[in-house]
Amino acid sequence: MSMFAKFMLNVRQILLPSQCLLCGFTIQIHQRLQWGSVLHQQLCRACFEDLPTPSLQAEYLPLPSTYDACFTLFPYQAPLSGLILQLKTGALIHASFFATLFLYAIQTHWYVEKPLPDLLLPMPLHPKRIKERGFNQALEIAKPLSKKLGIPLIKNGIVRHKYTANQRHLKASQRAENMKHAFIHNQSYANLHVAILDDVVTTGHTVTACAQALRMAHARRIDVWCCTRRY
Ligand SMILES: [Zn+2]
Repeated sequence: MSMFAKFMLNVRQILLPSQCLLCGFTIQIHQRLQWGSVLHQQLCRACFEDLPTPSLQAEYLPLPSTYDACFTLFPYQAPLSGLILQLKTGALIHASFFATLFLYAIQTHWYVEKPLPDLLLPMPLHPKRIKERGFNQALEIAKPLSKKLGIPLIKNGIVRHKYTANQRHLKASQRAENMKHAFIHNQSYANLHVAILDDVVTTGHTVTACAQALRMAHARRIDVWCCTRRY
């Protein structure tokens, strides 16, 4: 697409009414300008006010946990849980919405006057899973977020080399066993602060295994950023 065509597309997007991601309400241009917030590009005022408050405090973990803190945007409940399911099944347009929510939580709650991570690691998927799905939803959220925060992405520095079928119906102990040594590192993260971004954290076995690979590679600090935790 030419620069001019891109420019015209942006102008069109700004001037045309948009639809609320959650309820379908038509948001007119004057309402977007009046309401101001970036999230109002995608949500109507009522849905914005209904959003669950992002979990403001990190869940700090007792040592010797593999990661240092876990930050969660919201509890696993409708309607936001529905958006995650849609994202996983191909509605990639929702990725920028979640990136905006992360940006808001990071700048106003999680890292106020604290140093941001040096690197952002979208939870790696096994190549077979990427082939099945066609994309990695965590990467899709991380791409715009990385640009907005100025934090580089780790794309191939941690590799998921063990394929695991859908683990949702397995017992926690079996999940833990499956995830053992599921990731390997192929570079050093010595003295670096890394954030792992994942959409849904359930038992925590996957992020733990991923964090173990980062620890093996000497990462100094590991935070987990997830859209939602499902207990
Ligand atoms: Zn709405």
